[in-house]
Amino acid sequence: MSISIRAEGLRVVKGGRQVLAVDRLTLGRGEVWGLIGPNGAGKSTLLQALALLEKPAAGAIYFDGQRVDYRQALSWRRQLAVVFQEPLLLDTTVFNNVAMGLRFRGLARAAIKERVEHWLAALQISHLAERPARRLSGGESRRVSLARAFVLEPQVLFLDEPFAALDAPTRGALLEDLQALLRSTGITAVFVTHDFTELPLLADRVAALQGGRVVQTGRPEDILWQPASVELASFVGVTNLLPGEAFPNGSGPVPVRLQGGVTILAGTRLGGRVVACLRPEEILISDGRTGGNSAVNSLRGRVTHITPQGGQYRVEIDCGPSLVALAGATQLRLGALRPGREVLATFPPEAVHLIPAQASLPLATAQVARR
Ligand code: ADP
Ligand code: MG
Repeated sequence: MSISIRAEGLRVVKGGRQVLAVDRLTLGRGEVWGLIGPNGAGKSTLLQALALLEKPAAGAIYFDGQRVDYRQALSWRRQLAVVFQEPLLLDTTVFNNVAMGLRFRGLARAAIKERVEHWLAALQISHLAERPARRLSGGESRRVSLARAFVLEPQVLFLDEPFAALDAPTRGALLEDLQALLRSTGITAVFVTHDFTELPLLADRVAALQGGRVVQTGRPEDILWQPASVELASFVGVTNLLPGEAFPNGSGPVPVRLQGGVTILAGTRLGGRVVACLRPEEILISDGRTGGNSAVNSLRGRVTHITPQGGQYRVEIDCGPSLVALAGATQLRLGALRPGREVLATFPPEAVHLIPAQASLPLATAQVARR
């Protein structure tokens, strides 16, 4: 119950302007793809083009190797389901909302009942079956939206920021349930998000968009740890973007002389002007008595700011370059971290990814990104 999708030479024009240009993108059978990128990057446009809701000005879409003929788009579209950010629920019961698509398809009453009940149960909303769909909580109405899509047993499921604007616990529960359903159905899926933290949970593969183009594809960890550009790095939460010059010698970690004079070791074999990317969660902060291991980077510095951030703390340390690290509550409670305190920031060379400076913003603007 899943198919592969290929886009070739895709160009979409909106308002007289080309807003999407994707030369080639292949989504394998049963893969779950995340589309990520800043506002206006073209994520929704790409999703709509792949879901055949948007006819491209040029290019072609292939489902299982078969080129889509737009005169017959409707027969393909029956095999696809789309979930949008706003649940578009009809003014009737939850049951009727979920049954609607199957009634259109002319399924027998008993078959409809069985399938609707199955998907209401799968989404844990059986108890809401007779409730008016327009009087549900945000989380409940998202569950109805998902049930409406899954009940069609589509070959591909498309989701455009389905859980945006929900509170964190509701969103977390929905993400987990969706992940389990995608795994158990083995369906091909494409979801749009602007929240990089959703990628490792849901996606097998990610396409990162910027300015209407796919700038990188890969596994979630490739995108989060080895982003292809400074803009993308900053977008996926790489808070440390340090301009410098790399001098690869031999086969080990690459020395990088950062602006300001501090030298660190990086895991990417690249020379010349670079921007060193370091995720905040890779930095270990200690009281400075340990360390001295030459295989890791150890920078001594002073804590300048501590800001709460999503259950953790964002700690800024002036080490020559200013670094942003994440610390847990325990570290703070023990008094080890306070503004003014001297600490040691430690991180392995493998955590330092290099991007060629020419592939990035001008050095002057490529400073520590603030989230
Ligand atoms: P995203 O989903 O990544 O935020 P979209 O795919 O919605 O981005 O939009 C991509 C680009 O297309 C944006 O620059 C947006 O302003 C433009 N765009 C979207 N819809 C229209 C439209 N109906 N008319 C003109 N421009 C549009
Ligand atoms: Mg969008």
